[in-house]
Amino acid sequence: MYLILDAHEDLSINMMEYHRDYRLSSREIQAIDAKNGVDKVWPPSLLGWEDWNRGRVGVVFSTMFEAPSRHDDQHIDTNKGYKSIQQANARYWRHPALYKRLAEENPENFRLIQTQSELKSHLQEWESQIPDQPETFKPIGLIQLMEGAEGILGPDELPLWWQAGVRVIGLAWAGNQYCGGTHMPGPLTKAGRDLVKAMAEIGFVLDIAHLDEESDWDVLDLYNGPIIASHANASSLVKGYQGNRLLSDAVIQALIERNGVIGIVPGNCFLDMTRSETSDKSEFPLSLVVDQFDHICQLAGDADHVGFGTDFDGGFGVTGVPEGIESIADLPKVLTGLAEHGYSDAALQQMASGNFLRVIESVLPA
Ligand SMILES: [Zn+2]
Repeated sequence: MYLILDAHEDLSINMMEYHRDYRLSSREIQAIDAKNGVDKVWPPSLLGWEDWNRGRVGVVFSTMFEAPSRHDDQHIDTNKGYKSIQQANARYWRHPALYKRLAEENPENFRLIQTQSELKSHLQEWESQIPDQPETFKPIGLIQLMEGAEGILGPDELPLWWQAGVRVIGLAWAGNQYCGGTHMPGPLTKAGRDLVKAMAEIGFVLDIAHLDEESDWDVLDLYNGPIIASHANASSLVKGYQGNRLLSDAVIQALIERNGVIGIVPGNCFLDMTRSETSDKSEFPLSLVVDQFDHICQLAGDADHVGFGTDFDGGFGVTGVPEGIESIADLPKVLTGLAEHGYSDAALQQMASGNFLRVIESVLPA
């Protein structure tokens, strides 16, 4: 089985808001959520330590996410969101502290990866991990990704975030002082252009997920460091697509030319917008996810620019993913579907983790 890297999971916010204990399995977390009433306000968890191991998902870009209070969002209660940049900044700083504590207190379950040597030894350790042998299960390697840059006070603060272990920055969740994004279209602002220049000097990966297309083009034009879309599907395959959240084929093509990688979201609301999110999951076949992977490969002419960016537990849960997926442990089924399409062993390895590893290795310090 292939080692999988998942480029987008909102772990820390789930730990803070819903007290999820990701050392447990997804089923155990679901049971606790039901007991505490979390199941009334937040969908059932797809994540858990045992599940990551059973799916051989050994590396995760774990996000730092905070919502602003100014936007209505169908998934997130934004009333509780931050109301100023200062408040955003303070809240975003809670996340690296939480991840540090999580890894320090639970070295058998989680490990922070901030350097090439840490990544290398982590990958070596995972070589002896076997999905159906719990005695071989390993800690999950976490690489921090900031989702939404509104919490960054300015270019001068970037070195502190780098020191805290952040290696990937997504400029937008909602549009903000730096860029246009979901709910708020538009180009990069002057502050955004300055931030992006400073990010390139330090060497962050820039994540364009949630960016408005006008800002995408500005970033593609300005940023000379690595660019990814950590969790965004191709809009051209999504029936009934509306909004500015997903990627046009033109942007995908440009990302491919920049050697970028796109993380595919196996979330029903990102796969077919003609059906209600509450539709039965049997109406969303797993082939919708396989087709997203295949589409990026067709545009690229190779399998070097696509991977997983599940966004699991980031607004949808067990009922919001395609048939056949009950937890993160089922991700390998997507690779099986791709193998049935004729993808080679080497191509599957690239899509499972090789592509995102190539990008992240390029920015990690020795
Ligand atoms: Zn997101």
